[in-house]
Amino acid sequence: MTANEPGQPASGPSTPSFDLPTPTVALAIGAHPDDVEFGCGATLAKWAADGCTVHHLICTDGSKGTWDPTADKVALAERRQDEQREAARRLAHDHAGECRFLGYVDGELDSDLAARGRVARVIRELRPDVVLGHDPWKRYRLHPDHRHAGLLACEGVVAARDPHFYPEHHIDHHRPDTLLLFEADEPDHVEDVTGWVASKLAALEAHESQFESTMHALDDTQLDAFRNRIIERLRGLGEAHGFAAAELFKRISDL
Ligand SMILES: [Zn+2]
Repeated sequence: MTANEPGQPASGPSTPSFDLPTPTVALAIGAHPDDVEFGCGATLAKWAADGCTVHHLICTDGSKGTWDPTADKVALAERRQDEQREAARRLAHDHAGECRFLGYVDGELDSDLAARGRVARVIRELRPDVVLGHDPWKRYRLHPDHRHAGLLACEGVVAARDPHFYPEHHIDHHRPDTLLLFEADEPDHVEDVTGWVASKLAALEAHESQFESTMHALDDTQLDAFRNRIIERLRGLGEAHGFAAAELFKRISDL
């Protein structure tokens, strides 16, 4: 397919856009505590340092994020909220906004009308210029929470922007400027995060309960290996575009 067929956008995968202007307010929506840091942590750190208020919305309680079959899931969910708040502080410092938690049971998230309304309400309350979320159309994605959280981000934006959706909110509707989808199936937007990888790592490492099951980092050697995997991944993503490090997104600006 050529990029400039009639009816096709002038920009395509071969001609990405680069570096949004720093938003005033960003809202990152993740399925679990730590997803936002993995997906867009360096970009959020960069924006926060330039004055952007960074909010988090986490859809599930993260209560299945352990390999320990005897784990106290209530205690784990509480611990993961604390870790998420610490990660937000490490990313955004004085510009860390709110961490909202919808509290759906880990593994059981659905993108139904009730959940969509809750996401739309948060968008209307926090009024972000940019919303970031999982790409729900990423092929061969297995984890249902990531797919549903991505759908909720997209459909929540639609519901938040239109005044006849969820009038029971009694909050002015709100139309963000841009939606950025991380882990994108067809990325077409590049954020240069040179200098911000350490902030992403610091925030990821706030999620200490995930060192075993997600980061595979049970000792210093393994933690170094995890850090190097992240550093190499962002370096690899940046290399193709002339940056020392990058995070990639699908950008949707026609909201
Ligand atoms: Zn996740």
